[in-house]
Amino acid sequence: MAVSDAPQRADLDKCVHCGLCLNACPTYRELGVEMDSPRGRIYQMVQVSNGAPITESYQEHIDLCLACRGCETACPSGVNYGRLIEAARADIAERAPRPFLSRVLRSFLFDWLLPSRNLLRLAGAGLWIYQRIGIQRLVRASGILKIMGKLGDVESLAPSAEAPFFFRNMGRVYPAIGQQKHRVALLSGCIANICFARLNEATVRVLQANGCEVTIHDGQTCCGALHVHAGLRESARKLARKNIDALADAGFDAILTNAGGCGSTLKEYDELMEHDPAYAERARKFVHLMKDVNEFLASIDLNPNMGEVPGVVTYQDSCHLAHGQKVRSAPRELLKRVPGLTLKEMPMSDLCCGSAGIYNVVHTDMALALLEKKMRSVNGTKAGRIVTANPGCMLQLRAGVVRYGDGQRVSHVVEVLDEAYRAAKS
Ligand code: SF4
Ligand code: SF4
Repeated sequence: MAVSDAPQRADLDKCVHCGLCLNACPTYRELGVEMDSPRGRIYQMVQVSNGAPITESYQEHIDLCLACRGCETACPSGVNYGRLIEAARADIAERAPRPFLSRVLRSFLFDWLLPSRNLLRLAGAGLWIYQRIGIQRLVRASGILKIMGKLGDVESLAPSAEAPFFFRNMGRVYPAIGQQKHRVALLSGCIANICFARLNEATVRVLQANGCEVTIHDGQTCCGALHVHAGLRESARKLARKNIDALADAGFDAILTNAGGCGSTLKEYDELMEHDPAYAERARKFVHLMKDVNEFLASIDLNPNMGEVPGVVTYQDSCHLAHGQKVRSAPRELLKRVPGLTLKEMPMSDLCCGSAGIYNVVHTDMALALLEKKMRSVNGTKAGRIVTANPGCMLQLRAGVVRYGDGQRVSHVVEVLDEAYRAAKS
């Protein structure tokens, strides 16, 4: 591990312990425990940086952080908390190896499954069979999930496999509809190729309708966001090199993602690769081209040829889009352009819904507690639809609708735009 992967003194010293971030922290709001607040976590990082041992308790407080970066937005001192929490996790991963079974599972997930199209296809096919031939219905009806405790909760949060998978589009180039104005590449994710295949297709259609030639580059791979959040920065660097090799010098006007969580890491490839002389410069070039799809669409001359999509929607900020990338107005502006649609804001729309990558699987109790509160805010708006900008949030919110909701639909912003363009045609 490079020395720079542990929390840096200059970053830690920015915190003046004022506590203004506490109210923005979902885990502190839930537990009221200082050590589960941003200030408390930074205090513990300072102790470890000063030579204190990495204890089980330290690991638990760092693990329980959602890495939502709500505290970063609230902090008046400019503390880069996202960098600190990722560095603390990298430090733990390096100096306090987990139990053997946990290491095997993490290695399978991060080093084998997520970067491998074949393994993801295989896992996706298994999930599709489980969900589509009636096994899932039987399992759920049998009541067995209720006695399986946490595993039962995890099952209810599992995404749906969407056949045909988006992997079949790798290497394809979609022409612009009408005059071509932009040449863009779309990063289609890893799990999203299986569980958000239709969202990726809708994203391509919306971009085409806006004068973009869209390339699904065959050389792309998983962005490494889940790896970075788990402290596995070397694994993330391997993936970053592949994406940079494939896309940085290919002459695209922009490289796009429809996942707020991925975008945040992709836009920080320059930090990830800053000590790699062969990639540092190209990583900066990559970051310069990298945009969230909402940000991109709001920045161009948006095709106004939309039909009506009637209804009231509420928008849930994706933490990594709002706090990580500071993109808040773009998705709202896009929604306001859709004829017939009314946007009704919920209170604290930028407070984490509990999704946070694989957090809802690892810390299911906390994730569900946050989700219940989020759904109370959603229900209060009386909106019939929740719109967001990150597939992970969509999964969590869909589970929220089933458990605590009023039957709302959950959509991505580009799915709403896609509906509007389709409505115009029909
Ligand atoms: S992270 Fe920022 S807001 Fe929170 S205690 Fe430190 S200086 Fe204050
Ligand atoms: S990243 Fe989120 S959960 Fe973690 S300390 Fe900051 S606000 Fe709290």
